[in-house]
Amino acid sequence: MSGSPLRSLDLPDTAPHAASRGPIVHKFGGTSLQDSERIKRVSGLIALGSGHPVVVVSAMAGVTAQLALLAQDDAGEQGVEEVLSEIRARHLAAAATLGAVGGPSLATRVDEILAAVRAALARTDFEKPLAREDAIIAAGEDLSAELVTGALLAAGVDATPLDARRLIRTDDRFGCALPDLPETDRLVRAEALPLIAEGRVPVIQGFIGSTKDGRTTTLGRGGSDFTATLVAAPLSADEVVIWTDVNGIHTADPQEVEGARAIREIGFEEAVELAYFGAGVVHVSATKHAVSTKVPLRIRGSGAPEETGTLINPNQRSGAEFAAVAFKPAVMLVRVRAFPSAMAHGFLARVFTVLGAHQVPVDLVATSHSSTAFTIDSKEDLTAVRDELSRFAEVEIIPDLATITVVGHGLLREPGMEALALRAVGKTPVHLISQASDVSLNFVVSEEDAPETVRRLHLSLIELRSDA
Ligand code: ADP
Ligand code: ASP
Ligand code: MG
Repeated sequence: MSGSPLRSLDLPDTAPHAASRGPIVHKFGGTSLQDSERIKRVSGLIALGSGHPVVVVSAMAGVTAQLALLAQDDAGEQGVEEVLSEIRARHLAAAATLGAVGGPSLATRVDEILAAVRAALARTDFEKPLAREDAIIAAGEDLSAELVTGALLAAGVDATPLDARRLIRTDDRFGCALPDLPETDRLVRAEALPLIAEGRVPVIQGFIGSTKDGRTTTLGRGGSDFTATLVAAPLSADEVVIWTDVNGIHTADPQEVEGARAIREIGFEEAVELAYFGAGVVHVSATKHAVSTKVPLRIRGSGAPEETGTLINPNQRSGAEFAAVAFKPAVMLVRVRAFPSAMAHGFLARVFTVLGAHQVPVDLVATSHSSTAFTIDSKEDLTAVRDELSRFAEVEIIPDLATITVVGHGLLREPGMEALALRAVGKTPVHLISQASDVSLNFVVSEEDAPETVRRLHLSLIELRSDA
């Protein structure tokens, strides 16, 4: 990397060196890999960083979504071949600009991966549509792993691709597979430790895994963060660094709220709550896994490597001064009102038995004696649930809503806080309010009203409060 502007950067070393136990797992999101300029930065970060790196990569930004449309036979006006040649051209152009080592062999690998996509598109024997989709969308990470390996080699790093299908063993819930943790731990140790011992840098595709009979699965959108934590635990990593396009977790999405500012350290309860309720900067499963395996998780900006970003502390809650607001769109509200004849005790249990039997996950709940209301992700198909509930209750489903979540026990314990929050919500119609603990307070509003309501809540609960 001689001549790189990164040579002069004094990168803060965030891992706890005194007690150094193992490698550092660096995960680069699609936004950090979206063009050759950014990939060059990423290679520089690895080439100049300290500790032994293990690299986990997402697909280049937008590629998973393009492949998903192909998998859903929805290529639109462009057509399949045009989309594939656009993806090919983008990867090869980046490789050429980067001087990525690999030459013809990198181009050959790109063509092999795209040929596998064509083959999967043509196959008619997949057991489920999602099995086909996983086989196709995994190509995004397959491609970026080849590209990043080439760029790292060109930067003088002894990088080598390590196929995530050989490491991340999952069940066959295609589209959102669950890892078999003991087997994944065993495979990661068996495959990665010998490479690390030789001083080599494994480059692993995020997001993808495989069943024990070798079928490709994916961990759910945004799942590369989860891969990084799955790889880190069995390697006793010092730290997992999630490199992204913002400098850490902020008090609100900085792309939506101008006054949002970066948080230096956050307790795991609040981090999980924020991730679950829409702060998409780090995947909720990654946060939970890092905490349960006690690996420190840090979110940093690949465009601002001189900053230390946000540490998710596995051992404690945030300090009393911590507060943040998140929102999650694409939610529906289900209101269930018991028929008078069914109003005896046991109504709630009946409702939740139906939801449990259909494995429908519920987010927020509010209840009265004869009715209950709860939010559910808009993707869920509620036809069967609605039919069953309608046997003993009136059911109303309100679509196109968003949940807004205020997080922070210091703030939520302050007297008068609820009044302040309600004043900020103002005349915006609220469909549900819920608070189960001092960690978070939730409102359900229309998707349309959510961004502005978040801005108002952030202003009065965070910006003005900290100025006071
Ligand atoms: P990557 O491609 O690196 O995985 P993501 O798009 O998944 O990136 O996550 C980064 C984005 O998360 C940011 O661009 C930002 O808009 C969004 N985001 C949402 N809430 C927050 C928050 N509270 N703090 C920081 N970023 C947030
Ligand atoms: N490429 C996948 C996605 O876009 C996984 C990830 O980026 O984490 O969801
Ligand atoms: Mg992400």
